[in-house]
Amino acid sequence: MAQRDRQVLASWEAGAAADLAIRPAAVLAALENVDVAQARQWPIGERDAALVEWRARLFGRDVTAVAHCPACSTGLEFHFVPEGGTGCRVSIEHSGTTLALAGPSTDDLIAALASADPAKALRSATLREVPESAREEALSALAAAHAAAGEIELVCVDCSHRWALTFDIGTLLWRELAATAARLMREVATLARAFGWSERTVLALGRARRDAYLALAET
Ligand SMILES: [Zn+2]
Repeated sequence: MAQRDRQVLASWEAGAAADLAIRPAAVLAALENVDVAQARQWPIGERDAALVEWRARLFGRDVTAVAHCPACSTGLEFHFVPEGGTGCRVSIEHSGTTLALAGPSTDDLIAALASADPAKALRSATLREVPESAREEALSALAAAHAAAGEIELVCVDCSHRWALTFDIGTLLWRELAATAARLMREVATLARAFGWSERTVLALGRARRDAYLALAET
């Protein structure tokens, strides 16, 4: 509990200070206790797979979300279990050898976004180590793995319309981190005002004791 709360606050703080494109890498670096520069070099598929695992550790594996049917606007609550495994281990057979495809990193993405033709720049970063003759196959293998890792098929309960949602672990985890960090800081502030305790002291309290003191602080 205490450790989880410290990890939530540290990774939220790292993410809050980072630009949007760097944020998932910054959050992961704080959680893994490594340099951001290092996390920025990890392939995005690998980065996201690691974020899925961290999200399961911090908030549980199941995700509950609400979507609205694009055909009839009916609200639909749905549950799913994100899997991060496929996006980072793609390989193709080419001229008798197995080519492992890593895909672009956060740094590749940032460089591409700053270039004149982002799509082209990202494509060449992705195919940097892939022989010319295998490039087309490599791109479609990566695209398929990416879609499989991030797409959720939904069916409307009202009108049976089918559609696919793209799941982004970076966005989901960030939303949960921000909400949880805000709640933790409110608890720390309340107990600091009432009893003069430090953040460290408050975070060391288990949930039951913390809730009991929060109730006392409000009486
Ligand atoms: Zn519908």
